[in-house]
Amino acid sequence: MDVQTESILKHQLNDRRERLQSAIPLAPDPAPLVGLLQEVDDALERMNRGTYGLCLICNDQVEEQRLLVDPLLRNCLDHLTAEQQRALEQDLELAWRLQRELLPRPDLDLAEWEIGYHYEPVGPVSGDYCDVIPLPDGGMFFALGDVSGKGIASSMMMSHLHAIFRSLGGLGLPLDEMMGRANRVFCESTMPAFFATLVCGRADRSGEVETCNAGHLPGLWIHDKEVTRLEANGLPLGLFCNSSYSAEKVRIGRGDLLLLYTDGLSEARNPVAGEYGLERLASLATVHRLDAPRSLVGACLDDLAQFLGGAPRTDDLAILAIQRRPSKVGD
Ligand SMILES: [Zn+2]
Repeated sequence: MDVQTESILKHQLNDRRERLQSAIPLAPDPAPLVGLLQEVDDALERMNRGTYGLCLICNDQVEEQRLLVDPLLRNCLDHLTAEQQRALEQDLELAWRLQRELLPRPDLDLAEWEIGYHYEPVGPVSGDYCDVIPLPDGGMFFALGDVSGKGIASSMMMSHLHAIFRSLGGLGLPLDEMMGRANRVFCESTMPAFFATLVCGRADRSGEVETCNAGHLPGLWIHDKEVTRLEANGLPLGLFCNSSYSAEKVRIGRGDLLLLYTDGLSEARNPVAGEYGLERLASLATVHRLDAPRSLVGACLDDLAQFLGGAPRTDDLAILAIQRRPSKVGD
């Protein structure tokens, strides 16, 4: 394993260690998290001994791309049986096809709002969530989130979130109440190790947007040359069944942009330059504030590729840009 990959994996393991340590005291049932913490500690220990990433069966290197998705893996792909391997590949391909069907239509076009997004798993499937639901009154509900972990289990939780919001979205509930209900349903139907951070909002035709941020990275509202951060004002979904949420109202002017993203963008790491960071994203968004949403998303991807300079992406990536149309359709 090269030094660069090892340093990324070590960072990931340490990051997980810290997250687990702060989550354990808050968890209603800490046992699964304590078990995970032990596995992370064992992996760090193997890293110190120089035996990290070796297959339990053949003692050869476990594939780096797979370790980047799950640093706790202990078996190389060769030591799945051929049958297991074929079944796994077919399952993953099907899972990804199903997951892509849950994304907003790429040509989704609303009278007052223009949408652009990018959605890309780091492995075969993604634990990120991205949706835009047009509402009968000409407005829309939008959401972007990140389920804890990566891989198949997280992607299943992502499709669960999708179903929850698709069911609640059309009921016309106030946003804070809708989030409270979504949290209860998610919490009661998932294992304690799973939670999701999420930023969402309901926009009407006039530019008024109610937003709520459940423990997610700040959404960026780009207006003139200013960037206002829509900071977290509630706990992630699924941590506590009785969490309550509050909504904030912002008035979005014509041509203003909202930019939502997951940590696959803002916390992408280059071993030399460190973390991509919110400052870099906010400056980029300011430079591209007059672009259409699809171009802004493209600019984010180009800048991320430039920042990584060939270093591997290590997390699922989702970016959603929403613009209130600069002038009315038909003007
Ligand atoms: Zn092996």
